[in-house]
Amino acid sequence: MSGQAPWRAADSAALYGIDHWGAGYFSLADSGEVVANASFGAVQQSVSLMDIVAGLEQRGHAMPVLLRIENILDDRITRLNEAFRRAIAQLNYRGHYRGVFPIKVNQQCHVVEEITKFGGQYHHGLEAGSKAELMVALAHLRDREACIVCNGYKDAEFVELGLHARRLGLRCFFVIETLAELEIIIKTSRRLGIEPLLGVRVKLAARVEGHWNEDSGDRSLFGLSVSQLISAVDRLREVDMLHCLQLMHYHIGSQIPNIRNIRAGVQEACRYFVDLVGEGAPLTYLDLGGGLAVDYTGAATNETHSKNYSLDEYCIDIVEGIGESLDSYGVAHPTIITESGRATVAYSSVLLFNVLDVSRFRAATIPQQLPDECSDYLRNLFQTLEQLTANNVQESCNDAVHYREEVRRMFRQGLVQLRELALADIFYLEVLQRTRELLPSLPRIPPELQDLDQALADIYYGNFSLFQSLPDSWAIDQLFPVMPIHRLGEQPDRTAIIADITCDSDGKIDHFASATGESRTIALHRFDPGQEYYLGVFLVGAYQETLGDLHNLFGDTHVASVRIDERGGFEFVEEIVGDSIGDVLSYVEYNPKELYEQFRVAAEAAVKSGEIDLAMRREMLQAFNSSLNGYTYFERD
Ligand SMILES: *Cc1c(COP(=O)(O)O)cnc(C)c1O
Repeated sequence: MSGQAPWRAADSAALYGIDHWGAGYFSLADSGEVVANASFGAVQQSVSLMDIVAGLEQRGHAMPVLLRIENILDDRITRLNEAFRRAIAQLNYRGHYRGVFPIKVNQQCHVVEEITKFGGQYHHGLEAGSKAELMVALAHLRDREACIVCNGYKDAEFVELGLHARRLGLRCFFVIETLAELEIIIKTSRRLGIEPLLGVRVKLAARVEGHWNEDSGDRSLFGLSVSQLISAVDRLREVDMLHCLQLMHYHIGSQIPNIRNIRAGVQEACRYFVDLVGEGAPLTYLDLGGGLAVDYTGAATNETHSKNYSLDEYCIDIVEGIGESLDSYGVAHPTIITESGRATVAYSSVLLFNVLDVSRFRAATIPQQLPDECSDYLRNLFQTLEQLTANNVQESCNDAVHYREEVRRMFRQGLVQLRELALADIFYLEVLQRTRELLPSLPRIPPELQDLDQALADIYYGNFSLFQSLPDSWAIDQLFPVMPIHRLGEQPDRTAIIADITCDSDGKIDHFASATGESRTIALHRFDPGQEYYLGVFLVGAYQETLGDLHNLFGDTHVASVRIDERGGFEFVEEIVGDSIGDVLSYVEYNPKELYEQFRVAAEAAVKSGEIDLAMRREMLQAFNSSLNGYTYFERD
């Protein structure tokens, strides 16, 4: 194309929006590859994801792989704590900030370990919603300044574990969610003779827009209603434990895209806080729960998958809101706790996979003439194709639909043969494809042709399971940034959607973030079967890793954690081999050894009856055995 500047990596960066959603952690190098960035003081180092892929493959880890970048996780903790520190200093707030990481957002041992280890300098703590999570917290936290916040239903055993933590001097709070739970806490603490640290979870009326809003409003599942809150205070006073009530908690939802909702929550919460103090509860902690959003689209709007505020704005609005509100009532400033999960871990994980194949809805070659004998309908269809112009697209498409349907009808009646039906399909799709190409030149696009782009998009088959690795994409239509990680100096000129390798019609990605908001298709490069084509799904560190299921028995992917070093190299700090087929079979109660034995018996019987010889038997059993030990995903020879 004359006069047009050649495509550059910068054009790809704009196309995929990486400079917006990448938050500085991901960007495009001039080489046309996606790089991960890490800062060391004033120096920034970048590592190409393709170099990491090469390193993984040299170590025998085939795609798909979940990649964690430790520097990014550390940086998230730093930014969160430093932003609150700045806001507190700037506004002369007379209290501290203590972050806690909600374990449910990413329970992986290596992640929790890194958060507590690196977060130690900020006294970053943990939030636990179950006995199992509390045990993880008890094992990892030694810091007496850090908080452990226990939410969720608590039985006597849960309470006992938390009370033992008090004995070790750990700041472990039970957040009272129901009145029944309060009785269990009173009884157990009396029995053990240990005073608990208590919190109450209040239900705010403030509602939150967006996907994850069930936790907001009066009907939220968790927390005490106003009358229950009063009963809890009365009951604590009655048993002389009101002095234990030192924390107030609320959580109005995850991924809150609009800063207005956050401010409204703070305002309302402060009213509760002031009156609880007035009731005699010596509150010194205000826990705002989660909700700090991630801008998955990079659009910086108040839409579900975005957010209209920066981290600094979030911190300033919270610190200022609490400070001003409490000052006006003469109540002392509490320590501020937030339970940011998503914003802490989303950025540090990337799902990497290769493309296995592509389906195109267009024949490689279009026959230039008709067979000698064919139906009039096929003849008409062919003519429609030949006469298609920008001036008659709508009419031509209508005709094409009609003629193809007539050929199909004749086929069902036995009047035309399979080969003619195939030709009808080819001509029909060609009419639609050429129409699609003509659409941009039309003054107005007819409404019924607007979805043509998606309907005719190529299907790129990716070597991953949506259900295992991106469960929220399936369950709640969550958007994640997706893009190729190489070839970005080349113009991606195919329009596509992405399917996974489960044979489920829901196993696909057909919603993408784009410069114009959301798009139903993504631009990808032409797939060459002789060359691997790698895609990345970004910002998948929150909620995706353990919600995933074994749909079609695709198991956990390999996981690799890397750390970028000051010289721009990187090190694999951890490699976890994904599930083998034997592993996933045992999760659904098969015994791999027994399966092998059953197959061996069948093979032995075939030897006896002379159907196979011993060499064949050995080959078959070896194949069975190596599959049991093999990866559940598509493996290249
Ligand atoms: C899930 C949850 C969080 C985490 O919320 P994010 O929006 O991921 O930060 C925090 N607190 C409670 C009580 C939760 O249920």
